[in-house]
Amino acid sequence: MSTSNRPSGLHVILRSSWRRWLVVVVVVVVAVSVVLIHRFDGPPTAGTAEVTVGQDPPTYDQQRRADVTVLLDQWARAVRSGDLDALRDVMDPQADPGFVEAQLRRAAVVPGVPFAEFGYDLGDEPETPVPPSIAAALDSTDVWAPAVYLRYAITGPDASPTRRPVSLVVAERDGRWRLVDDADLTEYRRQTWRGPWDFGPLTVRSVATAAGTSVVMGHPDRDAFVENLTAELPSAIAAVTDFWGDDWAGDGLIFVASSAEEFAELTGSDPSTDVAAVTVSDAVAADGSRPTGQRVVFGPDAASRLTPFTVRSVLRHELTHVAARARTSDGTELWVSEGFADYSGYRGSGAEFAQLAPTLAAIVAAGGPPTVLPKNEDFGAGGARSSVAYESAWSVFAFVADRFGESTLRSLYEALASESPTDSAFESVLGLGRAQFVSSWGDWVARQAG
Ligand SMILES: [Zn+2]
Repeated sequence: MSTSNRPSGLHVILRSSWRRWLVVVVVVVVAVSVVLIHRFDGPPTAGTAEVTVGQDPPTYDQQRRADVTVLLDQWARAVRSGDLDALRDVMDPQADPGFVEAQLRRAAVVPGVPFAEFGYDLGDEPETPVPPSIAAALDSTDVWAPAVYLRYAITGPDASPTRRPVSLVVAERDGRWRLVDDADLTEYRRQTWRGPWDFGPLTVRSVATAAGTSVVMGHPDRDAFVENLTAELPSAIAAVTDFWGDDWAGDGLIFVASSAEEFAELTGSDPSTDVAAVTVSDAVAADGSRPTGQRVVFGPDAASRLTPFTVRSVLRHELTHVAARARTSDGTELWVSEGFADYSGYRGSGAEFAQLAPTLAAIVAAGGPPTVLPKNEDFGAGGARSSVAYESAWSVFAFVADRFGESTLRSLYEALASESPTDSAFESVLGLGRAQFVSSWGDWVARQAG
């Protein structure tokens, strides 16, 4: 490779060792054992509802669940419609002032989000105790900390809703149940998930992409980046479809976090702000159906640190995770999922081996070809070790595409992603033993780096 034909900007990426910008996939496994036992279809009354169970009058617990279900519906409707009076009306007089303020703020944001669904479900997990300090201060008839979930879907990318926990405390006073607080109760392992709409005003963009509607949302301080991603999405989704095929939704939901706190909340993990983007999804059903809760979340530093080249490749990388998620198991080795996504992310970019794998090329020049595939722990190790892991993983798929073609590459990915250990995949798809495969890959890398 000659330095004169480097794409502009790429040099800077390599010099800043952008590979420290790990692009990782995190699976947020959400408990899905949410069972609604009493839902009411009719308009709620002023706060009470009758439960009919055969001829018997409802038990106290049944009546309480029915009343709080009505309360949850009123709460969701008030927030979703931005009805501040209705929202204040569902607040207990002793509700935490910070909670009330936060709810009023989100009620100014939520109506601008294209929700297909936005509601609260009462779970049937055992209730957790209300901390005595909270209960004593309320001085109410009853106080309750039921299991509650926010159930929501974004119009376009969310074919089905996803659910996230709410650490809710409600109180009964004067015959009415109302909201008290949703603060985390870490001593009881209860926490409230916060969505982008809980972190201030939002810019929301819906854009037609290959097979549906994609949505990008971020805060006003990231408006330019939101517009940038919105402009990139149609071609990124078309590129992923061109590579992966039609066997995915062909749309995406992108969140842009403005702070480390929001990034952690939206990813359900605690990624370094050196991480450019994370793709999350709910647990994958075994039937190959589309996973729920798939989101690509960009970190707070992405807007300032990604270049036009890396915005494009990271977006395609993450959307490849989205496309492949239903065919990727929780046990898939990272070199398989990351290498495949990187191959897709760089596909057609025109960048050369030494541009995309500079650390690997330097190591090969000094010490000869690689003899082992990257291990899972290498990817999160940071520094050169991570760089070599990502670059090596990419190079495995670049080698397979070069030597066997992309159709075989796709078959190999599916075999590798579903089989563990992976040795049989090399044999069944390529007719090569593992050692033979690694050796051929090493020779290819040495030639590319030479
Ligand atoms: Zn990735």
